[in-house]
Amino acid sequence: MWIKCAVSCIAFPGPLTGREANCIAGMKEIKKDTSAFTSGEWKDVQWQKKAAAQYKTYARMLQKPNKNKILKQLPALHEEAFSVIDCLNCAACCKNYSPRFKTPDIKRISKHLKMKESAFIDTYLRLDEEGDYVVKQTPCPFLGNDNHCSIYTIRPSDCERFPYTNEDVLINRARITLKNSTFCPAVFFVLEKLTGTR
Ligand code: SF4
Ligand code: SF4
Repeated sequence: MWIKCAVSCIAFPGPLTGREANCIAGMKEIKKDTSAFTSGEWKDVQWQKKAAAQYKTYARMLQKPNKNKILKQLPALHEEAFSVIDCLNCAACCKNYSPRFKTPDIKRISKHLKMKESAFIDTYLRLDEEGDYVVKQTPCPFLGNDNHCSIYTIRPSDCERFPYTNEDVLINRARITLKNSTFCPAVFFVLEKLTGTR
């Protein structure tokens, strides 16, 4: 995902660099929240602990993926994941990372907020080391206390696509997928299914 760690500026997906250590520092801020799974066999699963234990299994599968087979499976797995995971019980991405705000995003959102683009940028965004606009601080300023996004229908395209569980990004950006599996229960869910663990 091109969602960026607002603490350390790692882009998702993209090659991880020496700044990974900083990102991991940011990861530590994530609470062990198991409430994201809400039904069936996934209810109350200690998923973050399990994801950490399964990391090497996921890595092996992603190293030599059967792309055609996986791409056929992803739409159904994506649907299944979000039938048991409620993002409103999670919001780990919005609380800890930032999307890129690309020019069309800035135009669309500032228009919606009836703000000048320059004022929108001054109020909410900063340029990171890679020249991308990201939120000044996390949690995202558009995230409500109830975990709803106040600009949901016009949110940045990065937000719309995350966590890439229905895109080839999931297998083409293995290292990012592995990183996302540490904080996004939907990625964990799909990797569990793809590796046949569940
Ligand atoms: S996309 Fe993943 S990390 Fe973000 S709120 Fe949904 S389940 Fe949580
Ligand atoms: S814009 Fe909305 S969906 Fe995107 S990070 Fe902020 S709160 Fe989350």
